[in-house]
Amino acid sequence: MSEYILARGNGRHIPQEDKIFGISNRAKKMIAEKGADKVINATIGSLLDDDGELVVLSSVDEVFKHLSPKDYADYAPIGGIAPFKEAVQKAAFGTHQPKGFIEAVATPGGTGSLRNVISNYSDGGDKVLTSDWHWAPYNTIAGEIGRSIETFEFFNKERKFNAEAFNDKATELLAKQESLVIILNTPAHNPTGYSLTLEDWDKVIDELTEAAKCGKAIALVIDAAYIDFAGDEEEYRRFLPKLERLPENVISIMAYSLSKTYTLYGTRCGAMICVAKTKEIADEFKRVCEYSSRGSWSNSAKVAQVILSRIYGDPELLRRVNEERAHYREMLIARGKVFEEEARKVGLETVPFDAGFFISIPCDNPDEISAKLEEQGLFIVPLAKGLRVSVASISEEKCRKLPAMIKAAM
Ligand code: PLP
Repeated sequence: MSEYILARGNGRHIPQEDKIFGISNRAKKMIAEKGADKVINATIGSLLDDDGELVVLSSVDEVFKHLSPKDYADYAPIGGIAPFKEAVQKAAFGTHQPKGFIEAVATPGGTGSLRNVISNYSDGGDKVLTSDWHWAPYNTIAGEIGRSIETFEFFNKERKFNAEAFNDKATELLAKQESLVIILNTPAHNPTGYSLTLEDWDKVIDELTEAAKCGKAIALVIDAAYIDFAGDEEEYRRFLPKLERLPENVISIMAYSLSKTYTLYGTRCGAMICVAKTKEIADEFKRVCEYSSRGSWSNSAKVAQVILSRIYGDPELLRRVNEERAHYREMLIARGKVFEEEARKVGLETVPFDAGFFISIPCDNPDEISAKLEEQGLFIVPLAKGLRVSVASISEEKCRKLPAMIKAAM
């Protein structure tokens, strides 16, 4: 019997409740019953200050408050307003813009970019490749348009990026299908906090170059949702020029998001930016992605496009935004370091971590452990292969407490 009444399942299992929002609701309920001091909610994917309030960059908020109705009430063109398309390339690439043919298309957040890449660079029924530890909505996004996710083991026994597994899976999929979309979420990967090193990138590029000799179409997506929270912005963009080495049948696409970088989560703004070897491939990218946008959400919201354009049109404002973000980034990095330090002290193993919003702990029975921790007022997210802690949503003081609590529960 179908699990649906009137709705059509189309091969999807749609749960009654989103897992993470469900946990968050239980945390809120416990806060109401027992008080905020009895609960630690380390599930939230937004950056919160030490009092649990959403961090909003005041420099960005100021721009918002000075907008005129035309800046937000009007439609934007499907691909985005011209100054945004220019600004977002600078925001995404910094001083490390790869040489090649670049086109940017506005999307509703990084999510919209991922959806458009999958719909345009894979065939129906294809498998999209990403790491075994990954952001769960990749499955939803792919599944909604008749694709699915296939994974490679992210880390080898030496706790290093598993280039061999990456290569094997990419080669295997290319033998079976005519095209391949690969998603690498780096730096500051969700849920592990890992950032591919420059050596990791060399391996990815070398192996993809080899695999691409089959001549099939490959899209390498860099999901850069957390790129400005890993560390120095320029340092963490040094891998970008390496993309120039890829052959013509591999298009690189950055899924760039304004959600975290500009604390504009709710304005739903991002861009997909391609680096292509020929003008024809870049023009095609723009044409097919804008077409897909038209058929899914039409144009993206204008408001954050205008905000980013203003920021990049005013060097002093840009300096202030970057400076303000750097302050909060330091706060986040300090939390991660404290968590790691304590984890080492109590002998709690974590998945290789560099920086970012999340840290993961490998675990065989994540549901059981997280249920046990919930009873003690600690809310974290059970994943397929472990537990995810959001250091973005809890204070440094709480980061110090958590490893011992998790270790004891395990
Ligand atoms: N990719 C990853 C790994 C994320 O965690 C997120 C948001 O949480 C996104 C992409 C997309 O976010 P948005 O659509 O808000 O830009």
